[in-house]
Amino acid sequence: MAKILIPTPLRQFTGKQDSVVAGGATVGEVLSALTTQYPDLRKQIFNDEGKLRSFVNVYLNDEDIRYLGKDATAVSDGDTLSLVPSIAGGSAVAPPENAAPESAPPEEITLSNDEILRYSRHLIIPEVGIEGQKKLKAAKVLLVGAGGLGAPLGLYLAAAGVGKIGLVDFDVVDFTNLQRQVIHSTKDVGRNKIDSAAEKMLAINPNVRIVKHEVALTSENALDIIKDYDYVVDGTDNFPTRYLVNDACVLLNKPNIYGSIFRFEGQSTVFAYEGGPCYRCLYPEPPPPGLVPSCAEGGVLGILPGTIGLIQATETVKLILGIGESLVGRLLLYDALTMRFRELKLRKNPECPMCGEHRTITKLIDYHQFCGVPAQEPKVTEGEIEVTEVKAKLDRGDNFVLIDVREPHEYKIASIPGAKLVPLGEVPKRLDEFDKNADIVIHCKSGMRSAKACGILKQAGFQHVRNMKGGILAWSDQVDPGVPKY
Ligand code: ZN
Repeated sequence: MAKILIPTPLRQFTGKQDSVVAGGATVGEVLSALTTQYPDLRKQIFNDEGKLRSFVNVYLNDEDIRYLGKDATAVSDGDTLSLVPSIAGGSAVAPPENAAPESAPPEEITLSNDEILRYSRHLIIPEVGIEGQKKLKAAKVLLVGAGGLGAPLGLYLAAAGVGKIGLVDFDVVDFTNLQRQVIHSTKDVGRNKIDSAAEKMLAINPNVRIVKHEVALTSENALDIIKDYDYVVDGTDNFPTRYLVNDACVLLNKPNIYGSIFRFEGQSTVFAYEGGPCYRCLYPEPPPPGLVPSCAEGGVLGILPGTIGLIQATETVKLILGIGESLVGRLLLYDALTMRFRELKLRKNPECPMCGEHRTITKLIDYHQFCGVPAQEPKVTEGEIEVTEVKAKLDRGDNFVLIDVREPHEYKIASIPGAKLVPLGEVPKRLDEFDKNADIVIHCKSGMRSAKACGILKQAGFQHVRNMKGGILAWSDQVDPGVPKY
């Protein structure tokens, strides 16, 4: 019997179990036994041809089965199998404008007496010392994202005396950011994140130079922005930007210090450093859109980005100082619920299209197309209904069904009276609860999940299905401010 560790995003398919025991002589047999036990998991990890999906990696103990015998790898009693899917979480980075041009050659690096006093606790560590502190001052680090991961990174890298720190972000601070993005304060809500972050960092250490790139990183601007830095720290929250950062770092030969978070779990490693593996060696392809929820949809423990961001900050400082053993070739997994760190071996994939022997990607591509996600949120107009119209229908006592496709814990936070809760994942198997000719309105938090649910019902032959535009957030704005937003 082997133990299979189930990561948070997949636990919804295993009855919330974080580990499952299953028998089999090979990895293929164990996974087959697992998915027989939990059929809903099957379509998550296998494609229609029964092959493992490329955004889920399987490790036998700490080795990737792609470098052992793949599905045929022998499993012994007491072995541990880990399913490691790609996760996107980090901080929000979105659409473009113009990058602030930046230059200025680093002069001969010296430390003032004030700086010597400030960095005293570094200077008295033999591994850092004056020389190390000067290396930090000469270093140029780009933080992609000034959100969850960017917050601790920005604060500590500034405090540590990293000389030039670039920030890429064009988002504004939102109330829902404050639970984790500790670089922003309540009074910053509505401000540009980049200005709010830069102000806090300079307040901690006025000796550092902050360069603001108030843009979304795109295939057009990425090489131009990244080329001026020595290290890139990836704190993005979406797959297109993650692949973009990876490819740009490989093309420019810059180390990519990676972190990602989801609910209670995080990952970190260093990609593209001194011939080491890149993100595409780990995950050649992104998951199909919608299969891996973002932090906005799936949630994240507020402290988690602190832990993962500080691991990234530590790795960055070690690389700058040239000390210790970096995470190159090791994928660090952190589970806050069990308070356990695990480590998996990361190998360079000789077939990697980006950094392998026969590279097929030689320039930046269209990452939204590659990840199958539109650059802008799709505007669902067909079959929509305004919240005010839904309210009028309720007030008139119209004969219609209002379905809420959010999760039960969201329903507890806020709900619309009379709505029937059917979480999106249960919709396909609960269709027979509804009349195909009924007047049906579906809602969720903002309208995305309910649009998916409308598609499922229409495909199943339901005649009158409409999506409530803007979800319960719009309901709170336009109908009943007493319904809390979350
Ligand atoms: Zn690679």
